[in-house]
Amino acid sequence: MQDMDFENRMITPEYTQIDAETELSLRPKFLADYIGQEKAKENLSIYIEAARRRKEALDHVLLYGPPGLGKTTLAGIIANELGVNFRVTSGPAIEKQKDLVALLTSLEDGDVLFIDEIHRLSRSIEEVLYPAIEDFAVDFMIGEGPGARSIHMGLRHFTLVGATTRSGQLTAPLRDRFGILLRLELYTPEELARIIKRSAGILEIAIDDEGALEIASRSRGTPRIANRLLKRVRDVAQVRYNGEITCDVARAALERFEIDELGLDDFDRRLLTTMITNYGGGPVGLETLAAAVGEESVTIEDACEPYLMQIGFLTRTPRGRCVTLQAYRHLGIEPDTSGQITF
Ligand code: ADP
Repeated sequence: MQDMDFENRMITPEYTQIDAETELSLRPKFLADYIGQEKAKENLSIYIEAARRRKEALDHVLLYGPPGLGKTTLAGIIANELGVNFRVTSGPAIEKQKDLVALLTSLEDGDVLFIDEIHRLSRSIEEVLYPAIEDFAVDFMIGEGPGARSIHMGLRHFTLVGATTRSGQLTAPLRDRFGILLRLELYTPEELARIIKRSAGILEIAIDDEGALEIASRSRGTPRIANRLLKRVRDVAQVRYNGEITCDVARAALERFEIDELGLDDFDRRLLTTMITNYGGGPVGLETLAAAVGEESVTIEDACEPYLMQIGFLTRTPRGRCVTLQAYRHLGIEPDTSGQITF
């Protein structure tokens, strides 16, 4: 049973325990080691160089895109490239205004403050953040009741790097305060194969080009999944084969984990099949769908849909989600055309 849970989680783009073991060693530290995302990288390197030459803090940066694509990694790289401190927190972790004030007042000139899941900051926290990122100052109350007074305090010129899986959920005033907006895209299998080869080198795993590409093609455009599958395939390669990951070894291992050649697992197949059998292939609303498969709608939206849309299996229409003919074909289901007019 435990094995089953483990396998079910294998291709989630969210951070899991399996990722924690190698997180530090696999994370690229500088732009030169960060593979793919050429557009974002090129823009960023220009901004970083300009800030360095002017000896100024970099403008605030908003990174957005699905989980596991390298937002946290890129934020750390920005700090390393600038040679400044990297402070990390997240939207849900900042509960009280005074927590944020304490963090902000401890920053030094040029420091990078990374706020993950920035769309989850509460309104009252956002209010502290606005003047902090616009004017480098905070206003806060000390004391209570009639004796309470407001304090105005200047801050060092720091850089806020915010990350979100959904820029649409950010309030407009917050979004407008970022000078640099970078959207991260799903990676191509070739880029993921390079990431896998790099990770294999660090972890001393023997793998050939075809083996890397085989894992890459099933990693849903996501480096976090690619690294995780690499480690799990290595286990199979060591226990069942001679330790080297070739195309055949990768294929056999991934089939064992029930991850098909496009990177779909049982959950994806269930989601698409439910749309087909219960809702005629769509359109079906996200909430209805979430209830039907017993999963949270945010999980479906963040972790499942970006990839299914990327490979052309799912479309979003104003009336809901629809399954495409390609998905029917992949699942081996005949589309029901009885309702369609044929000539
Ligand atoms: P996010 O913050 O977007 O959820 P992370 O930055 O935590 O994603 O990235 C997940 C893992 O994937 C990192 O630990 C890193 O090892 C790897 N990774 C991400 N992007 C790249 C990249 N461009 N090149 C190499 N490895 C990457």
